Amino acid sequence: HLVKRRTRELSQALDERQQLEARVMADQEQMEHLSRLSILGELSGTLAHELNQPLATMGNYARSLLRRQASGKLTADALEQAANEIANESERAAAVLGGIRALAKKRQRVREIHDLAELVQEAGQLLHGMQPGAPEILLSQNLPPTLRQVCVDPLQIQQVLLNLFKNAWDAQQAAQVSQPIQVGLEMEGDYCSLCVRDQGTGLPEEQLAHLFEPFFTTKPDGLGLGLSICKTIVEAHGGHLSARPAQPGLVLCFTLPLAPEQIASHKDNS
Ligand code: ADP
Repeated sequence: HLVKRRTRELSQALDERQQLEARVMADQEQMEHLSRLSILGELSGTLAHELNQPLATMGNYARSLLRRQASGKLTADALEQAANEIANESERAAAVLGGIRALAKKRQRVREIHDLAELVQEAGQLLHGMQPGAPEILLSQNLPPTLRQVCVDPLQIQQVLLNLFKNAWDAQQAAQVSQPIQVGLEMEGDYCSLCVRDQGTGLPEEQLAHLFEPFFTTKPDGLGLGLSICKTIVEAHGGHLSARPAQPGLVLCFTLPLAPEQIASHKDNS
């Protein structure tokens, strides 16, 4: 009778624990979603400006076509140029909206244990699959596999890595450098830290202060949303994204908490 009672109590306790975990998970998803929405709230002023620009340009081109047509001065060249500009500007506006949608989208929270070194290698392969001319991604690390295990949404972390690699490549292209991009992994307390180092143009100090602000860009065709999305993703994983100048170039680092079981087993062994 006692064994039966104890078994019943245990299974009840297990159910309660599972329910509690599910509730904590749902609360966390909701919180992350709200924090993304609050960023969007802050963004709305800048967003209006970002969308106004391409809309105004499209309007100007369309009106100039009408004027030329009315005065009989519409040439095939002018028509082609205006149509191209209108198409480019509409793509730009769509890309701004796409970035915003990615930020606002309510995603189901995924957390799986992955080896960060493997995620780096996969992201490097993805980059080369998409852009065969991309520089080599050189991973150097001497952490034991247990200290590279992080609890993450692998797709989101790959998105962050691809963004950092692409920015590093852009900066190196601007500096006409074709060196490999270096990636290092280190343990920092209960975190694994990952740094991406390039030998590109770097950024002056006053611009570095705005690096993670939405819509900050120095590229003629840039949107300036990549790094603010990376920051949101890393912070939703309990980590931190930062940048520091290098000689030459820039180093972008992010931390991710190590999977708790791995820390425990590492501490037991050492
Ligand atoms: P985008 O690439 O569309 O401009 P990001 O948010 O990814 O948007 O980057 C914002 C800006 O930060 C870039 O325009 C560039 O000026 C700067 N930046 C980012 N990464 C680097 C880097 N590795 N080296 C130099 N500048 C960088």
